[in-house]
Amino acid sequence: MRFYFFYTPMKTAELYEIFKQHPTVSTDSRTILPDSIFFALKGQNFDGNKFAADSLQKGAKYAIVDNPQYANDAHIILVDDVLKSLQKLARLHRQTLGIPVLAITGTNGKTTSKELIAAVLKNRFNLIFTQGNLNNHIGVPLTLLRMTPETQIAVIEMGANHPGEIAALCDIAQPDLGLVTNMGKAHLEGFGSFEGVVKTKTELYDFLRETGGKCFINTDNKLLLKQAEGLELLSYGNNETAQLRGEPEDSSYYLTAKILFPKGWLYFRSKLVGAYNFENIMAAARVGSYFDIDPLLIQKSVEKYEPTNNRSQLIQRGTNRIILDAYNANPTSMMASLQNFSQLAQKAKTVILGDMLELGEYSKEEHQKIADFIASQEFEQVFLIGPCFNQVDAGTKAKKFESIELLANYLFQQKQIKNNLILIKGSRGIRLEKILDNF
Ligand code: ATP
Ligand code: MG
Repeated sequence: MRFYFFYTPMKTAELYEIFKQHPTVSTDSRTILPDSIFFALKGQNFDGNKFAADSLQKGAKYAIVDNPQYANDAHIILVDDVLKSLQKLARLHRQTLGIPVLAITGTNGKTTSKELIAAVLKNRFNLIFTQGNLNNHIGVPLTLLRMTPETQIAVIEMGANHPGEIAALCDIAQPDLGLVTNMGKAHLEGFGSFEGVVKTKTELYDFLRETGGKCFINTDNKLLLKQAEGLELLSYGNNETAQLRGEPEDSSYYLTAKILFPKGWLYFRSKLVGAYNFENIMAAARVGSYFDIDPLLIQKSVEKYEPTNNRSQLIQRGTNRIILDAYNANPTSMMASLQNFSQLAQKAKTVILGDMLELGEYSKEEHQKIADFIASQEFEQVFLIGPCFNQVDAGTKAKKFESIELLANYLFQQKQIKNNLILIKGSRGIRLEKILDNF
């Protein structure tokens, strides 16, 4: 005889009472945290329901399932939909705690801005912020559920690759502050077009408009200004009208900049490569000044921050100096990176680029634009990797390879790159960082 038909799905309010007693969440049955609540999420190739009993054995206090067949233990709780239940729980938790929530979205620089902002805010506040890149429909609720009654501010990164996603994440996180880093070309396959990107990022502004929130905004960016019309603006940028004004100084290798605070200009010597990081630093400084962080502490925190995970890292290998930017790539960040690279003062420069993925019907055109730009520059050597770059007309200088392994073979045989400044950039899926072993 089976009992599961007698279970009725538990409502969020009731689940929240349990969460308050056991405020740790696990979602991976291989890494169950002690005394946690295991949410049996589904993936493309797995059904978390099947691991519910296992999670209890491994130390979870409760498991949340949505298939009654697995609700066969007093500590296994049935809900209508595990993912929705996780999201609703996070929303209720956020509403109950009522602290400021800053949402960050945009095409490029979300994680860098978020990390810089968190480093700055840590000087004064007990905060939680998105770990790594956990910025989607699961990562956002998991981040919110890490808030405790001691948490004073939450900084939430929101990523999207199709319309409606930012609206949905805003509904969960209920931000009262927002920051859109920029709106550029990425994930065009999912968004349908650049207009789709703009519409989706604007969903954060729409949410703030409806709920009376405020937004941090780079007023050098006219598109952002247009989309944020009607909102209360906390502005920054390299222009007279910005509430916090700054100027990039030198972007050969590590970026330096100066920012005008009430007591005068402060110089920032960052450990970030690329002129495009100026707007990320300005965002952190503006958020810091909004929350009354001493400018000297803002400066110190920004200067200390070093990127990880192949995001614009500067590396010395033998006689070569490498800008490793293999974390991701899209047409906007690729062009920003190449423009920055072309301005650096060094004679011998090598460019190693991997395909920009997820561009759908725009793929050929966008890869061609990058190839055209490269052809107009004086780079000593150019290597293009992946099926998309292989399809474009890249001039005579560029050497094309189907895969990173083939390029590695070639470099191994040639052993010819010495005393070069090398830019390595491509989409995550191309894993260009593997080429580092060849230098
Ligand atoms: P993801 O969509 O993967 O979450 P992200 O928006 O969080 O990306 P980051 O991880 O901060 O972006 O940076 C990834 C890469 O984007 C960097 O290595 C750099 O090449 C580029 N980048 C960072 N900031 C900017 C910017 N403000 N403008 C253009 N490109 C940028
Ligand atoms: Mg990110």
